Amino acid sequence: MNDDREFDALIIGAGISGLYQLHRLRELGLSVCALEAGTGVGGTWYWNRYPGARFDSESWSYGYSFSQTLLDEWDWSEHFAGQPEVERYCNLVAEKFDLKRDIRFSARVTTARFDEETSRWLVTLEDGTRYAGRFLITGIGLLSAPTMPRFEGIESFAGQWSHTGLWPKAGIDLEGKRVAVIGTGASGVQAIQEIAKTAAHLTVFQRRPNWCTPLHNGPIDGEEMADIRARYPEIFERCRETAACFVHTVDPRSTFEVTEATRQDFWESLYAGQGFGIWQGNFRDMLVDEKANQMMSAFVADKIRARVNDPEVAERLIPKDHGFGTRRVPQETHYYEVYNQPNVELVSMLETPIERITPEGVRTSARTYEVDVIVYATGFDAVTGSFDRIDIRGVGGRTLKEKWKAGPRTFVGVMVDDFPNMFMIMGPHAALGNNPRSIEYNVEWIAELVGYTTERGYGRAEARSESVADWAAFVETKAQGLLSNEIDSWMTGVNMNVDGKQVRRLVRYSGTAPEYRSVCDEVASGGYRELTFGA
Ligand SMILES: Cc1cc2nc3c(=O)[nH]c(=O)nc-3n(C[C@H](O)[C@H](O)[C@H](O)COP(=O)(O)OP(=O)(O)OC[C@H]3O[C@@H](n4cnc5c(N)ncnc54)[C@H](O)[C@@H]3O)c2cc1C
Repeated sequence: MNDDREFDALIIGAGISGLYQLHRLRELGLSVCALEAGTGVGGTWYWNRYPGARFDSESWSYGYSFSQTLLDEWDWSEHFAGQPEVERYCNLVAEKFDLKRDIRFSARVTTARFDEETSRWLVTLEDGTRYAGRFLITGIGLLSAPTMPRFEGIESFAGQWSHTGLWPKAGIDLEGKRVAVIGTGASGVQAIQEIAKTAAHLTVFQRRPNWCTPLHNGPIDGEEMADIRARYPEIFERCRETAACFVHTVDPRSTFEVTEATRQDFWESLYAGQGFGIWQGNFRDMLVDEKANQMMSAFVADKIRARVNDPEVAERLIPKDHGFGTRRVPQETHYYEVYNQPNVELVSMLETPIERITPEGVRTSARTYEVDVIVYATGFDAVTGSFDRIDIRGVGGRTLKEKWKAGPRTFVGVMVDDFPNMFMIMGPHAALGNNPRSIEYNVEWIAELVGYTTERGYGRAEARSESVADWAAFVETKAQGLLSNEIDSWMTGVNMNVDGKQVRRLVRYSGTAPEYRSVCDEVASGGYRELTFGA
């Protein structure tokens, strides 16, 4: 191994997670190298260049909070910034903290093996280059492994095509073109409403509709930005207190304890409000009580009916297989009105399934749709997908994929027994929500643990099997009673396009972020009794 490929710590990924972890570990005086598959920083905000890609977290609640000078320097131009702006932000962060010198780009990790003799991680890239590091930190993303549908003939298509999460840097010219979008999840909804503005014709292929609610984005002028900047301490404090780290949080009232008029007024105000308020800030029983959920679903269904002219199209757009908020809620801007445009057509894949892709376009059981461009908005192999795509082997050469066959098991989402010195940022069973708030916490917790381990001269830190079992049991307890855990979605580990992921698995921690942090804080302040340390 060349010395220039031997480090104290290797990080995989240079998104929001990897960038901050690199900064924090360098502050400890460690030699660190981040290996990134892309040619630039930003992760999600590097890859997802599709038209309309933007935040559904409020921009000013999403940015890093760790550096006052960064907060002082950066102005957000919109309440929900678009991909180009977020990518610029990530580049500013990388430049400001001089991170790029320690990032290797175009470096896709294919294998990572723990060498028991030397207590190091040996990592191989796609091109065969090898690296070694005492610590291996994964910042590989929970929505970063794009999945394509299983249609035959995809490669035979004569026009241009792309998955939303692998959108070419040069862009795709969609103006005046006949475009097909396949998929109506969060990315699909954002892309559809944008593409419909200029395409000659847009055909939307929908398998299952989602409940979408208005984003109500808007520009931020200088005066408002100054006000936001003055309120940053208050904003981040609020995000620390809320269940999912958003500025929105559950209303303490139940759906049934208020009058019909109060209920309607409240829902109207949420529908008129910004962002995830309607999902994260609704009545406390909305996501746990079937009847409350049905009432909320009926309210949103009526909104869809009111916005779509053709009643048959409206019915197709109303989900029948899950209640409001039990799957991720796509945020929209005139999405439903798009279906009133003469150049837009909705095709239900439940009524007329896609049979194959042909050189001309998309063939369903009813007919062929001739198109110039196909956009696959078919989502990601979420949470565990990016881990499955690397051959990760711990003690005894056992793979992580094998260990997680029946579902992931971790200690606080960060560690796995028999995988010493491997730490995951945003791993399965860590707190999620408004991601950067959880990322910052994870990164700082990991940096402290790495510091603790190195200061004491330990070569190895590992989660005890009992600690993993205890955390798994806690995650299970927290999952009880949530309606979202009783339906198929990426949040319950289901992806019909990935082998072995047709059944629900507990991939997500469903407790609150403050509860999560209090467990992790206790572990650290108690001297990491849940871990073992060795030479
Ligand atoms: C379209 C979209 C919109 C989103 N909007 C929001 C939002 O508004 N609010 C929110 O909180 N979250 C949002 N998310 C979730 C988003 O992923 C997180 O907010 C955040 O960007 C995650 O950062 P990360 O660094 O952990 O992972 P990512 O940003 O996914 O970065 C992971 C990086 O790891 C690299 N990588 C993966 N595997 C390998 C490998 N084997 N070798 C080398 N490199 C590898 C990838 O190339 C990537 O650059 C959104 C996600 C998507 C897809």
